[in-house]
Amino acid sequence: MIRAVHAAIAALAIASLARGAAPARVMILDGESAGPYHRWQVVTPVLKVMLAETHLFDVDVATAPPAGADYAAFKPAFAQYRAIVLNYDAPDDRWPSELKDAFDRYMRDGGGLVVVHASDNAFPGWKAYNEMIGIGGWRNRNESAGPHWYVENGRLTPDAAPGSAGSHGTRLPFAITAQDQTHPIMKGLPKKWMHQGDELYASLRGPGRNMTVLATAHSDQSNHGTGRDEPQLLVVQYGRGRVFHTTLGHDVNALSSVDFVATFQRGVEWAATGAVTQSVPPTFPGADTVSYRADLAAMDPLFKNGLNPLDPPRR
Ligand code: ZN
Repeated sequence: MIRAVHAAIAALAIASLARGAAPARVMILDGESAGPYHRWQVVTPVLKVMLAETHLFDVDVATAPPAGADYAAFKPAFAQYRAIVLNYDAPDDRWPSELKDAFDRYMRDGGGLVVVHASDNAFPGWKAYNEMIGIGGWRNRNESAGPHWYVENGRLTPDAAPGSAGSHGTRLPFAITAQDQTHPIMKGLPKKWMHQGDELYASLRGPGRNMTVLATAHSDQSNHGTGRDEPQLLVVQYGRGRVFHTTLGHDVNALSSVDFVATFQRGVEWAATGAVTQSVPPTFPGADTVSYRADLAAMDPLFKNGLNPLDPPRR
């Protein structure tokens, strides 16, 4: 009888291994953004749907206190999670040093971090955070944050010339080019694909240490761009921790782009486990046409006919 139970348990264990084992616990951390255009309250449920449909993750949401509130009770149990997804943008002085240290320790000890869009605007003066994200923009970052990193002839290239960090043009669809097709997040993705109307981040600056750029987009000078191939998807090794950073995802319209969904789902799995077991959806866009998820786009109550009244273009 005991032997039979053991055999049954072993069979169950093998079955769960075959399915990819138990879901990985993931925390989405939100609670603040710099302006009305980044509506974290609307974005978090969309990210949750994306993670839930993979059946790979158990997702909790931790909402940080707003500006001026007491942080004494905000002590997320980072170590209980395989990855932290940041849908969050706050200034340097928002987090007490104990909280910053706890997060730094979590990452150095082998945690996972996923940085979505304007989360790379956060904490310009927090050195460890800027090493985690590799590059960031706005909040008065300049050359002291590090060089402007771009890709030229397939090589990651620094430009240390003085200047501000962070720019984008009008939200038009744009092409994304894979720079690394062997990384687990990128395996099976096309060399080039179209991304739904979004802010094409450019001129990001940072230490760029242990950073691998997975995909770029050409920042077109006719749309207030730099004329350079700017990093859009990248990974950073931070201590024993893994970071996936996507500059994409300004609003729900951008998030609904099938390439955002797939690279986000894959990036979270990689940050959490170091591997990617998901297949690329057949609706993944090609080089000529955008592909978006109407079910996700419909989750933004303000989005109608490609326009969001709260969301003027910003440069
Ligand atoms: Zn934005």
